[in-house]
Amino acid sequence: MTVQTVAIVGAGTMGNGIAHVFALHGYETTLIDLDEPLLDEARGTIEQNLTRQVEKDAIAPADRADALDRLSFTPDTASGVAVADLVVEAVPEERSLKAEVFGTLDEHAPDEAILASNTSSISITWIGSQTDRPDRVVGMHFFNPVPVMTLVEAVRGQRTSDATYDVVADVADDLGKHPVEVDDYPGFVSNRVLMPMINEAIFCVMEGVAEPDDIDTVMTLGMNHPMGPLTLADFIGLDVCLHILEVLHDELGDDKYRPCPLLRRKVTAGQLGRKTGEGFFEYE
Ligand code: NAD
Repeated sequence: MTVQTVAIVGAGTMGNGIAHVFALHGYETTLIDLDEPLLDEARGTIEQNLTRQVEKDAIAPADRADALDRLSFTPDTASGVAVADLVVEAVPEERSLKAEVFGTLDEHAPDEAILASNTSSISITWIGSQTDRPDRVVGMHFFNPVPVMTLVEAVRGQRTSDATYDVVADVADDLGKHPVEVDDYPGFVSNRVLMPMINEAIFCVMEGVAEPDDIDTVMTLGMNHPMGPLTLADFIGLDVCLHILEVLHDELGDDKYRPCPLLRRKVTAGQLGRKTGEGFFEYE
């Protein structure tokens, strides 16, 4: 199967970046969001990010213009996916919403279309079970910011076919990304490894082992990480970190994933990181 036409469902942080890279790499791309003002905002963000790439000589001005020509925007999911070869879903991380959206995609996307999810923590096998085409449901887990980060976890659900996996791995390659094959277990590889490290850094704060800044310095200077775990947690959002740890804890049943009480306390207090101006650090 050759993918030429894609639809991205959800135009938030991830969806607009995903639409950006598909359009830039020659795919006819439709970006869908129920929230029309947000669709306009997404268009503006994509235009700005493409301009930045031109200014940095990463792409030619004509590439920017061609990418924008290939992009369309709609609040109507049914018509937006009607001719898609591949749909990438990037709506918020809520099971009931994913189930509803995949029901709609299954009904309105062409029978042979592949339905991919950008979920960080929900089982691809479960998402596939919400459709009549579990063999054509797969995980395509991009990383933020999508135009910059080159990893894609290509996640095989229990019933994902080899043909489906091969198509999304090839497409990820074509986008200039590096696909890594991952089996469908909670947190895949990225969050299974990252979140316990972030959680342990938060335990270090709670137990007074060191100040947040110093904990991050240990990991940047000592381990050569580009960003310390607490800065990264603030960037991801402490509510998102808590949610993923809860999924790991519930679904793997091992207490090593129990979320740190200080993480819960910060989330309850609304100190969610960068997006609220305060997490482990303060932001303008
Ligand atoms: P977001 O909240 O920024 O954007 C979600 C968008 O989906 C919103 O614009 C919302 O209006 C739209 N939406 C809601 N219901 C919809 C529907 N029924 N149909 C169409 N659009 C709908 O969320 P995000 O951070 O972009 O995350 C999206 C997905 O990507 C989640 O599953 C998340 O776990 C995953 N993810 C996020 C990150 C990250 O760093 N933010 C990284 C990797 C994966």
